[in-house]
Amino acid sequence: MAKILIYNNNSNRMEVYNRDISEAMPYNINKTLTVKEFRGSSNSNILWTDRRTMQAWNNFRKLYGKPIYVGFAFKRPWEGGHSNLSQHYAGLAFDVGQNISNQERSVMRRLAISSGFWRYVEPAVDTPRWVHFDDRWISSGYPLTRSGSKGVYVLIAQDSLNTLGYDTGGLDGIFGVKTRNSVISYQAKNNLSQDGIIGVNTWRKLMSDVVGKGAGDNTVM
Ligand SMILES: [Zn+2]
Repeated sequence: MAKILIYNNNSNRMEVYNRDISEAMPYNINKTLTVKEFRGSSNSNILWTDRRTMQAWNNFRKLYGKPIYVGFAFKRPWEGGHSNLSQHYAGLAFDVGQNISNQERSVMRRLAISSGFWRYVEPAVDTPRWVHFDDRWISSGYPLTRSGSKGVYVLIAQDSLNTLGYDTGGLDGIFGVKTRNSVISYQAKNNLSQDGIIGVNTWRKLMSDVVGKGAGDNTVM
């Protein structure tokens, strides 16, 4: 079983699902994406994404018209395996098509770009052996995250802070008082402006501290 946290972009609420890894992801249509596929090489029993990303997958999969092999998708920050501000830690990114030819990948990549379903498609020069597409919220990096924020980027912050020994009062994707206090403590310890807001500098420091640390607590609920 896996616990799946979904940020519903339509209702601005966090939703929680418990699914067997052989089941379809929440909001997935026709079981074109199982929990196991979305988890990829991650070992986590907690996963997250948002509703909009699942809809982008449904739309793209329908347009492509045949199964899409998913090599990597979700990773928790402390598991590493991606760059420090990767959208894979947000659960918004897919690395697919590892099992097809260069020519077929080119077709898929062009379709991903022309479809407009993805906010970002990595150029072939960066990822020639797979196709990376994602539904990021801002053009690069992570958005400013603060009291009242909800969603996948709050989950990244909470998971990272918990891993580094701070107590955010849970892993729920909702930026409340305890999350804010742990951000301020983290900022104080790292000579960052103590405003309780995770902007560019705090994100950069936080992710460089936690990515690939490999010591996260997988049981944190
Ligand atoms: Zn990727």
